[in-house]
Amino acid sequence: MFGAVVVFIGPPGVGKGTQAAKLSEAYAIPKFATGDLLREALKNGTPLGLEAKKFMDAGHLVPDDIVLSLIREKIQAIPQSSGFILDGFPRTTAQARSLDDILKKMCHNVSLALEFVMDEEDRIRRLSGRRICPQCQRTYHVSFAPPKKDMVCDSDGTALVQRTDDDEKVIRQRSAVYWGATNPLLSYYRDRGILKTVDASKPIDSVLTDIRNLFDQMK
Ligand SMILES: [Zn+2]
Repeated sequence: MFGAVVVFIGPPGVGKGTQAAKLSEAYAIPKFATGDLLREALKNGTPLGLEAKKFMDAGHLVPDDIVLSLIREKIQAIPQSSGFILDGFPRTTAQARSLDDILKKMCHNVSLALEFVMDEEDRIRRLSGRRICPQCQRTYHVSFAPPKKDMVCDSDGTALVQRTDDDEKVIRQRSAVYWGATNPLLSYYRDRGILKTVDASKPIDSVLTDIRNLFDQMK
């Protein structure tokens, strides 16, 4: 039985989502990412989903209390002993405190905050090299996974494009905002003695092994 509450911390491009999916399967525990929860609530047209939609339609960030309510709903629905992974949440110390309050009411607490560490320039290179086929959504990378023919999709020959999110200038702007909120969050968990790091620049399977070792130490 796993039973632990684990929080994944790291900027886009460090492979958090990939690892969360693999670990969720390996330990048979749920994983939650804020984006997925929002999409699901929107699709199902739940009251929270409709509330969130108002903000998204207006181009605003969904406020903390809505996101927290979504997470609370999810957490309360799973068996107390199960444990779960939060992928990319909390993002701020305010959210971390609210999460602690939710968990405390359920006699639970965050057992491990795991920071995915990657050299910032390495991360930017990985993200800014991504290309996508606008036709079939298949993704490529100019250095690590190039298409067979110059910048067209292997499957359908469509010219590949770069997403706005992957533009180097956009990545650098967001990076500054990200670290502004994340450094205090890391201190918050470090002060409580539950922060650990994993070298996210290693190959996917090595990162997975490292995390599994950390998870197994917790049991
Ligand atoms: Zn394609």
